[in-house]
Order: sequence, then structure tokens, then C-alpha cells
Amino acid sequence: MLSRRGFLQHTSGALLTLTSGAVAQRANTNAQVFYDPTVLRHEPPSDHPESPKRLDAAMGAVRILERQGRVSIAPPRPATEDDVLLVHTTEYVKKVRTEIAAGRRTLSTGDTDLSPGSLAAALAAAGTVVSAVDAVMNGRTRTAFCAVRPPGHHASQARGMGFCVFNNIAIGARHARRRHRVDRILIADWDVHHGNGTQEVFWSDGAVLFFDVHQHPWYPGTGSPNENGDGKGRGLIVNNPFPAGSGRKEILGAFRERLVPLADRFKPQLVMISAGFDSRAGDPLGRFTLTDQDFAELTDVVLGVAREHAGGKLVSVLEGGYALDGLPRAVASHLERLAS
Ligand SMILES: [Zn+2]
Repeated sequence: MLSRRGFLQHTSGALLTLTSGAVAQRANTNAQVFYDPTVLRHEPPSDHPESPKRLDAAMGAVRILERQGRVSIAPPRPATEDDVLLVHTTEYVKKVRTEIAAGRRTLSTGDTDLSPGSLAAALAAAGTVVSAVDAVMNGRTRTAFCAVRPPGHHASQARGMGFCVFNNIAIGARHARRRHRVDRILIADWDVHHGNGTQEVFWSDGAVLFFDVHQHPWYPGTGSPNENGDGKGRGLIVNNPFPAGSGRKEILGAFRERLVPLADRFKPQLVMISAGFDSRAGDPLGRFTLTDQDFAELTDVVLGVAREHAGGKLVSVLEGGYALDGLPRAVASHLERLAS
């Protein structure tokens, strides 16, 4: 865990911007951060990049913003099995339960490490998104950020992989459909890796426009431009692969020039972000070059879409982001705009 002093050293740049804003009323923020410390109980081996330290670092940045009255922190509820089954098969959920209970250290379906607390953490992560969707749809906050792990966007209906157990954002989107009768949802994914699980879940769904920018070639290898959905979902899967070294020009360009006109036609009633910050310059698991300022501007583009079509309703969900100094800075930059 980063010490308080270590965290301050790591985030000294971000603090300059964090302290520049006026102190707002604590109870009157536009952005709520949903966080359940149960997510720390998922404990891969100590040298694994998807570590509980990621959330300690990110929440350090969140708490600075909370003290300034810019965001509030809310406790979510864990997901029920019913929530998880909105996306995943009964067989897969049983497999996850059985393998964790048996003490397996890796999930048999893919490269996701496990520990005794992984089920509780994965249910907390999925439930966090469900709770955030409820808060935004019920008008308790305009925007929400879900500080969760394990990440979710590589998990499909019957397969966890890529550090993911349950597809948190997909479960949240399906919950919005079922509970709040939302007919059209945009999911924008700026994680450096392709969100293959989310793509598979919504491949022929028709209610979700999935817009993904990712490094290619790179893990997991999917996400070509000609993967664009089928049936009711035809044309609603939109992949934007870019080579290593890509950054502001390519990614912000795709969001401004492709996402905005697509959203103008689709008219989402709820906007969600798979906010992976492994697309930030210097991340150990990616080769994109986005800066904290770029994340602020990407947030503005998506927020613009939400305000234009969805009454401002936006739920952002943490995916990747593995640099313990970079992640809190990027999260702070993202949250400052969500709170604006
Ligand atoms: Zn990633």
C-alpha cells in the first residue's frame, strides 16, 4: 500500500489542479464515486499488476476531491446472483463459485488469477455498477464513477479472462434495461485493450451501442473494424483499432469525429464508460500515449453526448490502469470533469 506521503509525492502534479477549484457544497456534487472496500479482497499474487494497490491509489485521489467537496463517496450494495445472471450463464457462475471454493488459483476459463476473497470482490464490483446505475437513473447524482476491481470488459457470458471475472459494466447496462426500462445505452470503452467480453455480450442485443478504441495488435487480439454486430445489433459494435504509439490525435479524434455522430443517430438514454486508464502514457500493460489532459477532454466529449441525449446521465466504470503513480492522476482528471 502506498503511504500517505508516498501518495502525495506521486500525485503532486494532480494536487495543483485539485486545489485550484472552489470548495463546493459537500452534499451538492454532480459526481458520486461508488466504492466498496470488499473489492480489495481479490488478491492475485503480489507481483501481479492487477493489485489491490491500484484501488488504494485511485481512492487516494478520490478522497482529495471529496475533501474539496467536488465529489461524494457512496456505499454500493453487492450484486445478487440474479444481477450476475443478467449477463452470465448459470453454468459459468457455478464454475466461478466452485473453483474459488476449491481454492483454485486461476480461473479455468482464462487468464484470471483467483484468491479466497475473489467471489466477494467480483460480486461487490458488479453490484457497484448496479448501484451507480440506480443512483443516476433515480436522479440522486448526475454522474457516477465506479471504483472497482477486478475489471470486467474481457468477461463474456460463459468465460472470464484477462483479469476479469464478471462483466461489471454489462451487468449494469442490463440492469438499466430491466429495472429502469432504458431502451438505448451507449458504452464507450477507452481501455487500451479491446473489450471483447462486452462486444460478445451485446453482439446481437440491439439496445447497446458499443464504441471501442484499443491498441492493435495487442491482447486479446479481437476488435477489428469488420466486427460490427449481428441481427438487432448489426452496426452497433464499432471498433477503432490503433497501433502502438497512438494517443491524443487518434483517440480523441475517433471520439469527436466518429462517436459523436454515431450517438446523434443512436440517441442513448444512458451513457456508460469502460474507463481503462492503461491507455495512459507509461502504463506497463499498454503502448498508448494519452495524458491526463486527454482523459479530461475524452470525458468532456462523452459528457457532451450524455447531456445532449441522456439528460446528462453517465456511469463510468474503472477497467484497467496499472501504473500506480499514473492511475490516480488520470482518475482525478476524469472525475474533475464528471463533477463539472
Ligand atoms: Zn486494459
